[in-house]
Parts: sequence; structure tokens; C-alpha cells
Amino acid sequence: MSNTTLMMIKPDALENGHIGNILEKVTSAGFRIKALKLTQLTVNDAESFYRVHKERPFFGELVNFMTRGPIVAAILEKENAVSDFRTLIGSTNPAEAAEGTLRKLYASSMGENAVHGSDSDENAAIEASFYFSQRERF
Ligand code: GDP
Repeated sequence: MSNTTLMMIKPDALENGHIGNILEKVTSAGFRIKALKLTQLTVNDAESFYRVHKERPFFGELVNFMTRGPIVAAILEKENAVSDFRTLIGSTNPAEAAEGTLRKLYASSMGENAVHGSDSDENAAIEASFYFSQRERF
């Protein structure tokens, strides 16, 4: 899994009609789509996906946000996928994100920041398995 990462296009970006723009920027940056789905997280799903943050003060807000509408999940492949995708999406806070990054372009706040990217190869593998069976990967 070392050349793959897990992307989510978050509910805010879907509400604002950015799925197509984001997928275009992702593939133009050299990422290949290995798996892709439109789905919606339950509260249990979101609490599990973000369990490392469960003691943080924003955890409830994060779970509410991530469950309020559909998301797009994808496995992306590229050399250095995890690190290169974190660069493409930009800082967690869009106000601090570099020009041209997905969060600079499409996010509105620290919480509602349009896109998720795995932060390590280990988490990329765990997160890919959270969303996709083997037969859904190409
Ligand atoms: P990431 O790896 O850049 O996504 O950032 P983190 O792992 O630190 O946080 C995970 C997610 O929690 C972020 O992408 C945000 O959606 C959310 N989050 C982080 N900090 C805050 C905050 O201060 N307030 C709120 N409401 N959400 C936050």
C-alpha cells in the first residue's frame, strides 16, 4: 500500500458542487483512481474513522459535519502518494493553505475543509479497508 492514499471529498465540498473540480485537479496532479464511491457515514462510522480525535473539543462538531451529507471516498495511487496528496490538499486550516491547494480553493474553515488525505502509509491502508473491499479496487 505504500504508493496509495485514501481521499475523502467532505460534505461541504459536495454541497458546494466541487466533486468534478476536485477529481480533475487530483488526476491532473498525477494520481490514479484505484477505487471510488459516493457514500454517507453513519455516526458510528464517523466516530470510528476519527477515533484518534475522540478526546478533542471539536470531536462532536467533526462527527456532525462528516455525517450531515454524502461524501466521496477514493483510493489514489502515485509514488509518494500520502505525502504528495497532503501537499496537494494544503494545511488543515484553509486560511493557512498554500495558493492552488484544494483547501485554499474549496474549503471555508478549519472544520469544513473540503478534503481528507491519509497522514501515513499505515493509516492509508486502514482507511482504504474502511471503505473498500478487494473487489472494489482496480
Ligand atoms: P488533517 O489531517 O489536516 O485533516 O487534520 P487533523 O487530523 O488535525 O484533523 C482532522 C479533521 O478534524 C480536520 O480535517 C477537520 O475537518 C477537523 N478539525 C481539526 N481541527 C478542528 C477544529 O479546531 N475545529 C473543528 N470544528 N474541526 C477541526
